[in-house]
Amino acid sequence: MQLFDSHCHFDFDAFDGDRPQVWQRCRDAGVERMIIPGVSEPRWSTLFELVKGEPGWYAAVGLHPWWVAEAEMEPVQLQRDLAQQIAAAQLQGNPCVAIGECGLDGAIVTPLTDQEPHFRAQLALAAELDLPLIVHACRCHSDMLRLLKEYRPARGGVIHAFSGSEEIARDYWQLGFCLGAGGTITYERAAKTRRAFAALPLEAVLLESDAPDMPLAGRQGQRNSPEYLPLIAAELATLRGISIEQVAEQTRLNTERLFALQ
Ligand SMILES: [Zn+2]
Repeated sequence: MQLFDSHCHFDFDAFDGDRPQVWQRCRDAGVERMIIPGVSEPRWSTLFELVKGEPGWYAAVGLHPWWVAEAEMEPVQLQRDLAQQIAAAQLQGNPCVAIGECGLDGAIVTPLTDQEPHFRAQLALAAELDLPLIVHACRCHSDMLRLLKEYRPARGGVIHAFSGSEEIARDYWQLGFCLGAGGTITYERAAKTRRAFAALPLEAVLLESDAPDMPLAGRQGQRNSPEYLPLIAAELATLRGISIEQVAEQTRLNTERLFALQ
């Protein structure tokens, strides 16, 4: 079984003490590759350095809505700085596989109206560089769908850690966006999201840990880790009544397709 973690913040400080050991346990558990999205400017260049020595790790860069306020960066400057960062990394043989993590969050202090210009800059950059998007969409599905319908990103992307109804999930899939299944589906109370992931075409689903965030049911308060990805795969297999091998195989293919990886 070869699992692909489509969203892991493996560059975060939470892993500084034991990153090699965690990665070894991942590989022992069948988690062979991961996409690490950059969330804020100070992390962009260190992220490219991090993935350099490890063939199973891929970098994406963006400005996450949680870091928009402190970035104090005009959207035009954000678009230009990201483009420069991506070009510089490319020259050193470090391709950027997506724009993100970027998006909107309706549950934070920064108003959506202040987040939207920065997200628009990243939608424009994805079009300019012909890259897919890694999207954070929390309590904002109607705004998010409005923007995606306006820009119609040619390479699509993923709505990471999707939480919501089957109907909303299908709206995203119709726009070329996959849905990221993470720790949420291990919680019984997330009935709507579990139903959505049970009913969607499997071709629309990616697996993700979102570690160190999004702990699985029963592990609240603990650091989440990509080594637990098989538990999410197993939960998805149970929800759909198929084997974990089928889940692993199809979600790996989906991730390779979306991010143009072999
Ligand atoms: Zn994330």
